[in-house]
Amino acid sequence: MSNNIKNIAILGSTGSIGTQTLEVIKDNPSLFRAFMITGHSNAYLLIQQAMEFLPEYVIICDEAKYAEVKEALSHLPINVLAGYQAIKDMVTHPEIHIVLTAMVGFAGLEPTINAIKAGKDIALANKETLVVAGELVTGLAKQHNVKILPVDSEHSAIFQCLAGEEHNKIEKIILTASGGPFRGKTTDFLSTVTREHALKHPNWVMGAKITIDSASLMNKGLEVIEAKWLFGLEADQIDVIVHPQSIIHSMVQFEDGSIKAQMGLPDMKLPIQYALSYPNRVKNNFKRFDFVNYPNLSFEKPDLDTFRNLKLAFEALNRKGNMPCIVNAANEIAVAAFLNNDTGFLDMSDIIETCMTKIGYIEQPKLGDYLNTDKETRIFAQNLIKQMPLKAYDLKEK
Ligand code: NAD
Ligand code: MG
Repeated sequence: MSNNIKNIAILGSTGSIGTQTLEVIKDNPSLFRAFMITGHSNAYLLIQQAMEFLPEYVIICDEAKYAEVKEALSHLPINVLAGYQAIKDMVTHPEIHIVLTAMVGFAGLEPTINAIKAGKDIALANKETLVVAGELVTGLAKQHNVKILPVDSEHSAIFQCLAGEEHNKIEKIILTASGGPFRGKTTDFLSTVTREHALKHPNWVMGAKITIDSASLMNKGLEVIEAKWLFGLEADQIDVIVHPQSIIHSMVQFEDGSIKAQMGLPDMKLPIQYALSYPNRVKNNFKRFDFVNYPNLSFEKPDLDTFRNLKLAFEALNRKGNMPCIVNAANEIAVAAFLNNDTGFLDMSDIIETCMTKIGYIEQPKLGDYLNTDKETRIFAQNLIKQMPLKAYDLKEK
């Protein structure tokens, strides 16, 4: 094997980003190798992926599925492990070059921290990690001299705009948002929407949690916080603009007023590939953008009164400490409840706001504080949902 091949550990290989990462690896066998793949509970897909990519390690988080995976791969030279602890331990393996974090939610935090401490570069899709503990994680990355390479398309866009601009100050960044399936809708309309409506994103096919976050604009809120930490910005240097076509993936404005944008058709494989190949670009045959097909690229202000989650995320960013961690945990519970038809679309913002006022504030949290805040907020939010008065969504079928 050539020494130039980068060994990639994919945390969450069975998800939307994970499967697209494997496609990028498959297209570039001389550059990348899937060294480790992990999944939560989709044993069938994890086994298929292991048989195709022959990674050194396969980890299934759900220990009840271990025997099934182990048995199916027993004829192959693959180490099969199970459990979340195994993921946390194995990301430090000396042969791994890049850990691509494509698991969803708070679960990404501890494996990412362990990988950074072991000196691994991080290709970061799991934005929740930076939302929850951005200061801690970026501080560790600096200390251990590792790169955090953004996979999120907006952050990859900014990262690409900044190439060659290392010594120039950023005046502000402009994060673009598609606006999601409910762009332009009123609060009245939103009070009646179901999970099926919310799961239909106009431009991107993604995992369920981020799709709901996109519909509620919480995804943009999480991305504002992610951008703050990735690029060392203040909250007032981050603008959000709705751009329904999702062609401009985000922009940077420098101190001379010049704005750089990164553009292309919406395809997550491009930011995934750039994170893995950075600082190089790699030739591919992804579909190319043609201006003639898009005579109207449009822009509008986000509606913060209707989509309150974005406002709450900005508030959390300004209040600092464990407040973004509270917002993230409350949002994870609220989204799970909405996906389960246990709560309405607008209730999600109420749940988050209540958690922000009721959970203990910590100004300078350490890792243990984040773990406690996350746990406490989840329990509180779950109880809140149980006590909420019956609304229209209760009439829907479960
Ligand atoms: P997904 O739900 O499709 O996949 C999640 C993956 O993580 C699966 O492999 C699942 O098995 C694994 N997983 C889930 N919970 C886990 C747990 N508790 N422990 C271990 N593994 C677990 O999600 P996705 O859409 O691929 O998103 C993954 C991350 O990337 C999220 O943080 C999301 O915000 C971010 N992201 C996704 C996209 C996208 O286009 N899908 C774009 C930008 C950022
Ligand atoms: Mg994004």
